Amino acid sequence: MTQLEDRIGFLRSEIKRHNDLYFKFDNPEISDAAYDLLLRELEKLENDHPELKSLTSPSKTVGAAPEGRALSQVKRDNPMLSLDKAMNESEIFDFEDRVVRFLGALSPPTYHTMPKFDGLAVELCYEQRKLNLASTRGDGTVGENITSNVNTIEAIPKTLPPSAPEGRLSVRGEVYMEKKDFLRLNEEREADGESPFANPRNAAAGSLRQLDSSVTKNRKLSFFAYGLNEIEAAGTLTYSQLMKKLALWGFPVESSAASCEAKTIPEVIQIFKRLDNQREALPYEIDGLVVTVDELSLWKRLGATSRAPRYAVAVKFKPRAAQTKVLNIEVQVGRTGALTPVAVMAPVEVGGVTISQATLHNEDELKRKDVREGDLVKVHRAGDVIPEIIEVVLEARPPHSAPFIFPKNCPICGTTSIRRENEAVARCPNRACPAQIEARLIHFASKNALDIEGLGPKLANQLLSANLIERPSDLFRLSFDKVKLMPRFGEKSAQNLIEAIDKARTKSLWRFINSLSIRHVGERSSQILADHFKSLAALAKASVEELKTLNDVGPEVAQSVVDFFQSPLNTSFVSDLLSPELNVSPSLEQNIEGGPLTGKRFVLTGTLSTLTRAEAKARVTTKGGRVLSSVSKETDYLVAGEAPGSKLSEARKFNVTILDEEAFLKLLGQ
Ligand SMILES: [Zn+2]
Repeated sequence: MTQLEDRIGFLRSEIKRHNDLYFKFDNPEISDAAYDLLLRELEKLENDHPELKSLTSPSKTVGAAPEGRALSQVKRDNPMLSLDKAMNESEIFDFEDRVVRFLGALSPPTYHTMPKFDGLAVELCYEQRKLNLASTRGDGTVGENITSNVNTIEAIPKTLPPSAPEGRLSVRGEVYMEKKDFLRLNEEREADGESPFANPRNAAAGSLRQLDSSVTKNRKLSFFAYGLNEIEAAGTLTYSQLMKKLALWGFPVESSAASCEAKTIPEVIQIFKRLDNQREALPYEIDGLVVTVDELSLWKRLGATSRAPRYAVAVKFKPRAAQTKVLNIEVQVGRTGALTPVAVMAPVEVGGVTISQATLHNEDELKRKDVREGDLVKVHRAGDVIPEIIEVVLEARPPHSAPFIFPKNCPICGTTSIRRENEAVARCPNRACPAQIEARLIHFASKNALDIEGLGPKLANQLLSANLIERPSDLFRLSFDKVKLMPRFGEKSAQNLIEAIDKARTKSLWRFINSLSIRHVGERSSQILADHFKSLAALAKASVEELKTLNDVGPEVAQSVVDFFQSPLNTSFVSDLLSPELNVSPSLEQNIEGGPLTGKRFVLTGTLSTLTRAEAKARVTTKGGRVLSSVSKETDYLVAGEAPGSKLSEARKFNVTILDEEAFLKLLGQ
């Protein structure tokens, strides 16, 4: 490669990286001016040397154009301030002292407390009870216009009820992503070969600050309101009452036990400690407790400094991070062949959980963080769940350390790995790779596939290494006599396993489709495919064109299905699975075979008071029904809870039966 090609290659990958940092991670490393310099250099080189032009160069993609990088700006008269912070108990008392001194009061005020969300602060402006402008906090005075993106967030009301004031109303709050939605999004991104988000905050920010609102729409974002610019308009005396008013107007407000009134600072401290202990159980990430003077008339008197109001303080949790040593870096092979570097570390406790491994996601991420064997690293749990290396403690790096060299070959079977252009993940292309076979067997038996109880990673490994099976279909050939002889197996456990496998023979077709480990085909796509094709044999013959005609099946999924059935290894596996001797007969019923809601399609909107979304979904699916994300003329029921979103009007348009919570529970009770 010439020096010139080298430079162009470097510029392209560097600009792509900065685009990702800016758009996906909301975490730019360089100024706009420095970015423009890189881009201009690339454009000049490409213009001077047309033979080196490439259609996939970032100079050609919209996101890279300097003007395309920015959302339009919104200037506000009344800035969104940040909060002063208290790092320990005595600083909370200092806050009270300042308030009392400022007011010249004889006794301290009472307070309101609320968890401090780790998301993105936004302002929503309503005129005549209609949402007309949404913006990010930005630097406080100038934010970015995100109206079209916010319009896709179901949790945010677009019109307010008649009880809300008609004049201008600017509601402030936090857009965030629930931990489970963050985990799911990252799973999807990794399955699609894209880099995962580092934490829910980055995922929320990256999803909200999109130039293309259809991207925002496909990410599950949530919202909590916590303030109002025109507090007089609410006609309330205290902040606690103001929050109730916001809820009445249809805004989601935080409702954990930590959102409450507190008479004194010692009471505040108790609430803080309780919250710190329970924060992992909350569905979203928080990083502290906001303490606010409750009486609104005092807000006016206390006012604000240039950066923060005097009537509130954010009490921050101690970070749950620790330092430990990287013992070695392993490259693991997943069921679709993805090679994932994993740091194996000396065990260390973080927030009550022992961590000894952290994924480094892919080669690029590994290079970016430059984690090396022997390094001392800072670790925490992203989303309070996933162990993550924050950074290397460079001062402690051993003198002769070398960057980790990502292997060119699969570490298990030795096949040369393949990394497609525009993908972050390198893959072992050998479907017969022992590591992939094991991972696929584990998936085959997992909850979302054939759900074979008792068949987890340990047993999968045991069955393969004892040569009792070669591929998942062999499970259906296992006999009680053979299983009984395995180490740690007795009559009873052998009997249980055989029965669990037996049950799997007649599970739903979509489970069989999901069990095949076709790339990009998960639970939902499997259900759509099962609905349409009604047998594995028909699916195996499908063409890309036919697949693409299905609702919700994109070109990637379509191609992936066709590719799968072009491999002789896969077709021989599927025909083995269907050979009469195995007595496998996938059922066409969805989920619970023959449940009372079989074939019924549900869409949920708004909040139910007795069930979470996940519970409602589970109740529907165990009765044989399905929960889909958007309303169409095929929808049977729309379940509308408190503060329903735009789906309600869509359902009316399609004449879909609308159930309130009571009617829904009654239907489930059948
Ligand atoms: Zn391999």
